[in-house]
Amino acid sequence: MGRREEQERARSAVTEVAPGVLRMELPIRMPGLGHVNMYALLDSDGAAVIDPGLPGPFAWRAVEDRLRRAGLRVRNVHTVLITHSHPDHFGGAARFQREAGSKIVAHSRFSLATSGAPAPEVSVDDLAAEQAQAEEEAAARDADEPWSGNTPWGGERPRPALRRRIQFRMMRWLGRRWLPEITDPVSHGDVVRLAGREMTALHTPGHTADHFCLHDPETGTLLAGDHVLPTITPHISGLSLTRDPLAAFFASLEEVAAIEGVRNVLPAHGHPFSDLRGRTVAIRRHHEERLSRVKEISHEIGRPATVTEFSRRLFRPRSWGSMAESETYAHLEHLRFAGEAERSVDPSGEPRFLAR
Ligand SMILES: [Zn+2]
Ligand SMILES: [Zn+2]
Repeated sequence: MGRREEQERARSAVTEVAPGVLRMELPIRMPGLGHVNMYALLDSDGAAVIDPGLPGPFAWRAVEDRLRRAGLRVRNVHTVLITHSHPDHFGGAARFQREAGSKIVAHSRFSLATSGAPAPEVSVDDLAAEQAQAEEEAAARDADEPWSGNTPWGGERPRPALRRRIQFRMMRWLGRRWLPEITDPVSHGDVVRLAGREMTALHTPGHTADHFCLHDPETGTLLAGDHVLPTITPHISGLSLTRDPLAAFFASLEEVAAIEGVRNVLPAHGHPFSDLRGRTVAIRRHHEERLSRVKEISHEIGRPATVTEFSRRLFRPRSWGSMAESETYAHLEHLRFAGEAERSVDPSGEPRFLAR
């Protein structure tokens, strides 16, 4: 499998992707992703930017560099829009607020609701694909080194997992410290007047409870954040504040698929694309397949089973762990709310699920 476009390393080139809209790639090092897109909407006062990258000096240098290439300075950024509460999307916002007095636009439910647990950006399947690719590359690179590859007892070397854990912990810490003050909260259906445009805010919960997209009907452009990505599936966490996050996500996919005249989708990772409806159908299909598989697993086990039992049959061993369990739980809960599974609690207090 080739590298996904969402995993490409950030380049410094700035490209115009819609009239007066610039795409800038900022570096991130997160599982499954190689860059985040910061978009700049130009007007006579300067620019509004969307999703200004991770917190910290490394990402900020890239922000300054990209703005400079576009003939802009930090102080020209009068507004920052944040599509949702993940650190690679809001990280630079507080600094814009401090240095440029920028207004901060986010959904009214914006919060670090997931701060108690690592919040991966992409689905466990896509992480596994990336991991397989990285292992192939590492194997090719380290072919002569006797200490490379798996441990003698067959397990994975622990370092990447530890590094990821530290990354998550860092981001949580930074997330709290670098939280911007939301000056202009938006709700579903609000008209956002920015940079000479009238755009509609669409609340699209699922990936996070506070995710929103922006639709510009005049140019047929949708600023999609992580809601609809070109080739990967956004992570849907079982640890969401939403009652049935997968149902919320499906409804949000339908919401954007139903918009007439979208010709240009600007995602937060990867390149612009045009077939919005096709992507929403493919993402939905991925989850429908997972739901069918969860039901099959329940029938195979033939008794109420724990989330861990389900996730170990749903995912290959390389993906086992809390993230896989979180996604599995979201799917099991979705079946339960749809009346297709029952939930019971065993004497130890652990929930068990049985599909009908
Ligand atoms: Zn995200
Ligand atoms: Zn993202």
